[in-house]
Amino acid sequence: MARNSDHLVRLDAANPTEGSLGSLFGLNAAELGRRVEAVGEPAWRGRQVADGLYSQWVTELWEISTLPKTLRERLRAQGWRVGRPRIAQVFRSGDGTERYLVECLREDGGAGTAETVETVWMPEGDEGEAGDEADADGTAETGAGTGRRWERATVCVSSQIGCAVNCQFCLTARLGLQRNLTAGEIAGQVVTVFARQGVDVGRDRVNLVFMGMGEPFLNFGPFMKAVRLLVEEVGLSPRRMTVSTSGIVPGIERFALEPKEVRPKLAISLNAPNDAIRGEVMPVNRKWPIDAVIEAVRRVPLRPRERITFEYVLLGGITDGPEHAREVARLVRRSGLPAKVNLIAWNPGPGIDCQTPAPEAVEAFRCVLLDAGVPAYVRKPRGRDIYAACGQLKRTVED
Ligand code: SAH
Ligand code: SF4
Repeated sequence: MARNSDHLVRLDAANPTEGSLGSLFGLNAAELGRRVEAVGEPAWRGRQVADGLYSQWVTELWEISTLPKTLRERLRAQGWRVGRPRIAQVFRSGDGTERYLVECLREDGGAGTAETVETVWMPEGDEGEAGDEADADGTAETGAGTGRRWERATVCVSSQIGCAVNCQFCLTARLGLQRNLTAGEIAGQVVTVFARQGVDVGRDRVNLVFMGMGEPFLNFGPFMKAVRLLVEEVGLSPRRMTVSTSGIVPGIERFALEPKEVRPKLAISLNAPNDAIRGEVMPVNRKWPIDAVIEAVRRVPLRPRERITFEYVLLGGITDGPEHAREVARLVRRSGLPAKVNLIAWNPGPGIDCQTPAPEAVEAFRCVLLDAGVPAYVRKPRGRDIYAACGQLKRTVED
């Protein structure tokens, strides 16, 4: 029986970004088994711990009633805890959107330091989303009292604190990259929000979009590990998940190799009709230009009826003209990919020198795409009043 702690050393060394030492949340069943073994219990009990973390959504070890008391105590004595990120603050919008500051506790030896990332809950009732929802207590981490007025919902998940990509129109870029999130911190955002909203996995229609703070493909390992936990342990379908990338070609190539059972749908932030403009607004384009991105996307084996989404942020006066729309239509058609375009009117942020396009320009843009046979949708800004809309995520407690 393995009693030593070699496993711990080896696992932590293999996963240096698993920053919250002592957190069980974020480990898969096999890894949990090794933790359990290291405190002298059979490895199969790792499955019970996994069920507690990912199906029962416990926040304390003592809540896992299937585990012998002695094991719970021994794990705790060795410094293990659930360690799921918790909601530190809630901002609630008139349209029902909630933006959360989610606290990720990082323990670099000594005292833990709290850092927050942003997660957004967007209920989309089939009708009647008017802002008349009973104002629930803003901080309780339970669905009780939130009134379940939604038919379906979307959770927008962060993958990094800040972002290194430096897109000129994006508020998150202003933070720079503070750090990568661990798999537990990424998957934990989802479970924590599900617990608050009382989501019934398997019954409720909830989509995940990895479109919060950060560039998922620059934190690839922890991002995919989180997806695997959400699929294999929490029970979500990867077809209800979309990951968005600014076009990190090596990341797209790795993504293409993931089995379809755990591969989310893919969205590419195109945001400009050609390399010249894209290079200006997204400096990452100088490293990986549009053709290189499309070439990489072609390697992703799509499921039947699956389409690639091209996201296109309309910057007033820069990328929102009919000539731009025609160029985008040509580009998408030339790619030969089954694709659709999601148009997003630029959301303002302090200190960012861009213009929100006129609503008529957005509609005209869409019509040009449709006329050219390219499916196009306009994404409704959600939670703009609480800074929860696309590109508005920045740690805004006081600032
Ligand atoms: N980093 C990834 C995912 C997060 S950003 C990416 O860039 O794809 C999610 C989406 O928000 C991207 O399509 C991005 O282009 C868009 N976005 C960024 N800033 C925005 C803003 N101010 N207004 C509207 N959309 C914005
Ligand atoms: Fe990063 Fe995406 Fe913002 Fe660009 S748009 S800076 S990739 S979060």
